[in-house]
Amino acid sequence: MSTSATRLAGTVALVTGASSGIGEASARSLAAQGATVALVARRKDRLESVATGIRASGGLALVFPADLTDGGSASLVERVLADTGRLDTLVNAAGIMLVGPALDAPAGEWQRNVDLNVSALLNLTHAALPHLVAAARDGRRGVADLVNISSVAGRQAIGGAAVYSATKAAVTAFSEALRQELAAQHVRVSSVEPGAVTTELTDHIRDGVREQNEAWYAALEALRPEDVADVITYVVTRPRHVAVNELLVRPTDQT
Ligand code: NDP
Repeated sequence: MSTSATRLAGTVALVTGASSGIGEASARSLAAQGATVALVARRKDRLESVATGIRASGGLALVFPADLTDGGSASLVERVLADTGRLDTLVNAAGIMLVGPALDAPAGEWQRNVDLNVSALLNLTHAALPHLVAAARDGRRGVADLVNISSVAGRQAIGGAAVYSATKAAVTAFSEALRQELAAQHVRVSSVEPGAVTTELTDHIRDGVREQNEAWYAALEALRPEDVADVITYVVTRPRHVAVNELLVRPTDQT
């Protein structure tokens, strides 16, 4: 029987957004459960530092610097497969939150949000799916996992965050439809919907709006990335017959 620390031994997890925040914490947590983690984001130095920390704790980590909006998802997945031999878990955590009043939105801001949060997530998932199906069929656990990081905003659209809300609603809808399609192959598809988490997410919001957003986060006892990583690790370490389809997790004091 596997112990709690080796539940993911022999598996490979590709984690996007692994250079900071929820993706980084998830990569550390999955590695602590025995998974070999493939770390994806643009900042190579940050990925190297996360990988060094994982290896220092006895884990296995490989670094794959990539811009997920550049159309190279298929070759990225092939490189991960070439280096690791399999893919059991995909955590789609890379995302941006470019919020602000719709009337004042700078040209291109909506497109950037859709390009990463929706198109890149779809493209990477498309490339990874056949390998997840194969891992569920051939792997020791008999199951594979796709975990998409959506948001509270995907459930409850928020004025001032119209496009971000739309991207996250798309992620939640995609996850549920895919879940139905892949259930028979034992590929679990989960949508994790965090409330406020203290990360670098707000750094990229336009001037004037960013300050308001940061003040809202600061007024809460916000979640830490590790809190969401716990949730993701819980989802992917369930027994084969248990699928946690959707999980909404807010700070206790978030209304
Ligand atoms: P961070 O800003 O800390 O992390 C975002 C990650 O995405 C970084 O690792 C960043 O790395 C990566 N990324 C950004 N652009 C690209 C790109 N073009 N190609 C590849 N990677 C990219 O924020 P969070 O950890 O908070 O965000 C993770 C997810 O959680 C997002 O999907 C977000 O929408 C969601 N979420 C966050 C909440 C919060 O309150 N923080 C609440 C609800 C949902 P790099 O810059 O190195 O490329």
